[in-house]
Amino acid sequence: MIYADNAATTKISESAFKKMLPYLKDQYGNASSQYAIGMHAKDAIEHARQQAANAIGANPFEIIFTSGGSEANNWIFRSVSEMYPNQAIHLITSSIEHHSVLNTCHALEASGIEITYLPVNQKGVIAMNDLQTAIKPNTKLVSLMLANNEIGTIQPIAEIGKFLHGRDILFHTDAVQAVGHIPINVNELQVDFLSASAHKFNGAKGTGFLYKNSAQKILPMIYGGSQELGFRAGTENVAGIVALGYALEENIAAMQATASLLKILVDQTIKGILEKLPFVSMNGDYEKRLPGTVNLRFEGISGESLMHLLDLKGICVSTSSACNAGNDAPSHVLLALGQSEEQAKSAIRISYGRYNTLEEVDIIIENICNACNKILHTIKK
Ligand SMILES: *Cc1c(COP(=O)(O)O)cnc(C)c1O
Repeated sequence: MIYADNAATTKISESAFKKMLPYLKDQYGNASSQYAIGMHAKDAIEHARQQAANAIGANPFEIIFTSGGSEANNWIFRSVSEMYPNQAIHLITSSIEHHSVLNTCHALEASGIEITYLPVNQKGVIAMNDLQTAIKPNTKLVSLMLANNEIGTIQPIAEIGKFLHGRDILFHTDAVQAVGHIPINVNELQVDFLSASAHKFNGAKGTGFLYKNSAQKILPMIYGGSQELGFRAGTENVAGIVALGYALEENIAAMQATASLLKILVDQTIKGILEKLPFVSMNGDYEKRLPGTVNLRFEGISGESLMHLLDLKGICVSTSSACNAGNDAPSHVLLALGQSEEQAKSAIRISYGRYNTLEEVDIIIENICNACNKILHTIKK
C-alpha cells in the first residue's frame, strides 16, 4: 500500500506510539488522584503541555487539550457567541474553512448570529481588503485557517494578526494542517486562539489542543471537574496527550529535513504528471502552500473514478470533495476558487508525509497515467 493522504490523517510515529503505550496499560492512574500513579499521569500530561507550548511559542498554561481540531474549532465559535447573549454580534470567517468551522457557523446563523464568509482568489488566498471592508462595529471574532486542507494554500495570518491587533476583535486560526509541518509562533501570528490536532502530525486520533492567549477569556468547553484549568472537564486522554507531545516534538525536530523531502516529492509529482498528461493543472498556489499537499485538476475526468482506480492499486489519495459519507457534492473549496461544479469534481489531492519516498511517487505517477487512460478510453467508447 502507498499512503499519500496525509492531509486526511497520518500514520502514528513509532516513538510516540511507544510513549503512549504504558498509559493504556500499567500507568492507568487518574491524573486528578493524589497518589503516585495518579501524579505520574499528571506529570505526563504537563510534560506534553510543555511540548505543545514549545512547538508554537506559547506558555504551557495557554494550551488546553481537546479531543481534536473539530472540538477546538466548535469551541471558539460557540464560546464567543455565548459570551454575548441577546446581542446582535457579527463574526468573520472564510468560504474555504474546514466543515468543523463552516457547519458551526451555519448553526450559529440559525440562531441569529451574522456571519461573513470572505471570498478567496483563484489560488485560494483571501484579500486583506475584503477583510478590512467586512469588519463592522459589532464584529467580535475573525477566524481564518492557516493552511487549507484541500489545496494546502497558506493564508497571510501574521499580516491579518497585525491588522487586527489593538482592535477589540478576537482572532482565531485553524492551524490543524500547519502545526508540526511549518514553523508557527503565536506571537508572530498575533492570534488569540489556535486549533491543532494530533493525528495530522503523526500523533494519535482523538486528541488535539486549543491555544488560548492568557489575556483572553473563553467559556468552558465542558463543565465539570477542574481538569484542563477548568476549561474542559472530564478525565484526560492521558495516552493520546502523551503521544501528541512526543509526535509534535519529533515532527518539529525533523521539520526542515521533512520539508526538503516533501518539496522533492511534490515537485516530482507535478512535473511527472503534467509532462505526461497535458490536461492536468494545479489547484491552489504553488508558492504559498504546505510543503506536502498538492491538488491536481484532471480536466474531463472524474476525480472520484480516479481515486477508486488508484485504490484498486493500493494507492490512497483523496478527491478534494468533502468526504461526508454519501455526499458527492463538489468541493466547496474548489467552488470558492471560481471553478465550475464539473471542474471541482475532477480533482485529486495527493498529500505526502514524512514516510513517503521518491519510489512511491514514481508508482503513483505511473498509476495515475494508467488510470486516466482507462477512464478516457471508456469515455470515448
Ligand atoms: C482535520 C482537520 C480538522 C479536524 O480535526 P479533527 O482532529 O479530525 O477533528 C479541522 N481543520 C482542518 C483544517 C483539518 O484539516
